[in-house]
Amino acid sequence: MDHILRNLTEDIVISELDSMINKLDCCKCDKCRLDIASYALNRLPAKYIATTQGELMSKISIIDNDFRMRVATELSKGAQVVKKNPRHAAVPSTPLPNPLPAVIETK
Ligand SMILES: [Zn+2]
Repeated sequence: MDHILRNLTEDIVISELDSMINKLDCCKCDKCRLDIASYALNRLPAKYIATTQGELMSKISIIDNDFRMRVATELSKGAQVVKKNPRHAAVPSTPLPNPLPAVIETK
C-alpha cells in the first residue's frame, strides 16, 4: 500500500471550514475559502503523519476537541480578515461560471 505524508491539520481545517462556512457570514467563493484556510493553517501547528489514504479518516477522528476548538477559532478570525479584505475581486481572471455553484467541492 502506498503511504503518503499528510498534514492532519490541513484536513481538519478544510473539514471544519466546510461545516462552519454557512455560519461564518463571509464570501464562500473558492478564493475566499482557501484564504480563510490559509490564515488558520499559518497559525496552527502542523500535525504530520505517514498514512495511507484509507487510514486518513480514522486518523482525523483521533484529533481531540481542544484542537478542533482552536481550528474553529482561527477559522472565525480568518473569515473576519477575509471579509474585510476580500481578494477575489482584485485578481484579474476569467469570469466565474454563472450561476455560481451552491456547493463548492473540496479538491
Ligand atoms: Zn470570495
